[in-house]
Amino acid sequence: MRRSMMSIQSAKKQVAALKEQLNKWAHEYYVLDQPTVEDFEYDRIYQQLVALEEQFPELVTSDSPTQRVGGKILSNFEKVTHEIPMMSLSDVFSKEEIIAFDARVKKLLNVSQVDYCCELKIDGLAISLRYENGHFVRGATRGNGTIGENITDNLKTVKSIPYILQQPASFEVRGECYMPKASFVALNQTREEEGLAVFANPRNAAAGSLRQLDTKITSKRNLSTFLYTVADFGPLKAESQSAALKELQTYGLRVNPEFRLVHNVEEIWEYVEEFHEKRTTLPYEIDGIVIKVNSFAQQEQLGYTVKVPRFSTAYKFPPEEVETEILDIEWTVGRTGVLTPTAVMTPVKVAGTTVSRASLHNGDFIQQKDIRLGDHVLIFKAGDIIPEVAKVFTEKRTTQEPYLLPTNCPVCQSQLVHLDEEVALRCINPMCPAQLAEGLNHFVSRNAMNIDGLGPKIIQQLFEKKLVKDVADLYRLKVEDFYQLDKVKEKSANNFYTAIQQSKNNSLEHLLFGLGIRHVGAKAAKILAAHFGSLEKIAEADVLEIQQLETIGTTIADSLTAYFAKPEVAILISELKELGVNLNYLGAAASSDSIFSGKTIVLTGKLEQFTREDLKQLLESRGAKVTGSVSAKTDFVIAGSDAGSKLVKAQQLDIPVLTEDDFKQQLQEDDHA
Ligand code: NAD
Repeated sequence: MRRSMMSIQSAKKQVAALKEQLNKWAHEYYVLDQPTVEDFEYDRIYQQLVALEEQFPELVTSDSPTQRVGGKILSNFEKVTHEIPMMSLSDVFSKEEIIAFDARVKKLLNVSQVDYCCELKIDGLAISLRYENGHFVRGATRGNGTIGENITDNLKTVKSIPYILQQPASFEVRGECYMPKASFVALNQTREEEGLAVFANPRNAAAGSLRQLDTKITSKRNLSTFLYTVADFGPLKAESQSAALKELQTYGLRVNPEFRLVHNVEEIWEYVEEFHEKRTTLPYEIDGIVIKVNSFAQQEQLGYTVKVPRFSTAYKFPPEEVETEILDIEWTVGRTGVLTPTAVMTPVKVAGTTVSRASLHNGDFIQQKDIRLGDHVLIFKAGDIIPEVAKVFTEKRTTQEPYLLPTNCPVCQSQLVHLDEEVALRCINPMCPAQLAEGLNHFVSRNAMNIDGLGPKIIQQLFEKKLVKDVADLYRLKVEDFYQLDKVKEKSANNFYTAIQQSKNNSLEHLLFGLGIRHVGAKAAKILAAHFGSLEKIAEADVLEIQQLETIGTTIADSLTAYFAKPEVAILISELKELGVNLNYLGAAASSDSIFSGKTIVLTGKLEQFTREDLKQLLESRGAKVTGSVSAKTDFVIAGSDAGSKLVKAQQLDIPVLTEDDFKQQLQEDDHA
């Protein structure tokens, strides 16, 4: 597209159209946290605008997306002015463009070689944290780069952000707040079950979670952070990016450990290729690599454009997307009656695995994307894990018929409803067999009553043979009842029976979660069980008392009180009690969800971050046993400095040894689990 071939009028029209399209997408992405196109599609159109503006510089206006940092400020939050602007990054998409970036940098600096610091480009949202004398005083979003939103209270719920630094300092530290892939997958699963819209990717989930007016919601979203710079270098002694990243850690700030000092484009490219490969195995999502001139003096020399620094750029990974065809759409009914459609597709390989099914989430999703049977679609993996339909190739469509959403439950045939605040279709027949069977599957699952061996196939048969209709019936089953099931012999019948009987002794939180009360997840169940002590007390509790508990809000409190007000629930509780099911909380030590639970641990050496007694109590409160000597039964050793014979013995026996820092990391994972 040479300038001579296009008139200024036609360029003007195109620039206006591109700006309008990009601004619409930016609004959906930054304000609504619900993008409607993939990032690479946005980037592709953005590059078209850049190219046109380069040919016709007179068409560049200050409101162009190429001239402004994209975010918007929501009026719900107080505004924060960034004294030092929070910038965006320029993009590159190939090795050639990295070579060109390196050449430009060298030319501007008038040198023949430059050191770079390569970092992972964490796909979250930029945050700025202000510390005064070592105390966290204010946290903000990037917003439009000059004005952001004050989200201090929300950021205080993010466990990796220290309230107090390990050494006093006054500075503004910047980095990325993100949602780990596992939390993203779990959050979307819950949202789908509850009939709510799902988040497109971990980045939008993190942004949506940070901009909650109710901080209790933020605290449940398991966000984390990686910090990478100090606004004006503040009191840092470091003179380079790689040294600064090390120094930030000495303040107790969380830094991504994968950064690397490199000396030329070849080494940059090795880093790019290495992490392109490792990308799917990382517990957080990355969308590229950030390449920064390492020396601060050189960074200063290079300076900034209106939107981005000249000393760094982001290499964006190519999208991993594959075309396939929709063969069928299957609908399943969950335990709360929500219907979920799944696309059945011609199998294709995406990011390392063969994919033949993708959730279409809900009826609204199908209608918004206008997905039809036989359509050719582009699929990718959200959060590098979940197959998703990104786009429909309407130009390849052969059918004229839009897909018709079901009007009746595929299992019990009762009429479906579409509640106002929901995006899902729902079967509201409380006796729908699919819902009852799903409720039982949930009851026996790991975080609930953890009844070994009772998988969905067994539950389905118990149900179809009318041996059980609710959870109390499970405890009425006799060994002989299992003989009626397909291929079940004496040994497995005994195992099923024993596993069910053993579950009677579980601590209350398992039962409470297993009952499948709307909005009551495993974590809330634990908090409620620990606070009230028994199921009867929870059933009688006042809604105000419930909602004041840490991380429990009005939604959970209302749902609990509505549940326990039902007469059939009162009957169920008395039946469970009569059948010998424990309704009491057995204490933190009995809690089995901690990674330390049931482990035998030995402490050795000089501990610096804990007293030995505190550490022992902490471990015991999470169900571990702390013993004095290392043996083959020891699960792991926590070693401080100057550890002696116990450490040697652990090494001889190949028992894992944790430093205090490793242990703190495990502790964090435990809290996030
Ligand atoms: P960006 O996300 O491409 O890059 C800049 C950001 O990278 C920084 O602000 C920082 O938050 C982040 N970052 C992560 N790790 C970093 C590290 N180690 N060092 C420094 N920074 C790091 O730019 P942007 O301005 O935030 O957003 C523009 C991008 O957002 C577009 O390129 C597009 O991919 C996406 N977008 C998508 C849509 C859509 O509809 N899908 C709409 C608008 C924008």
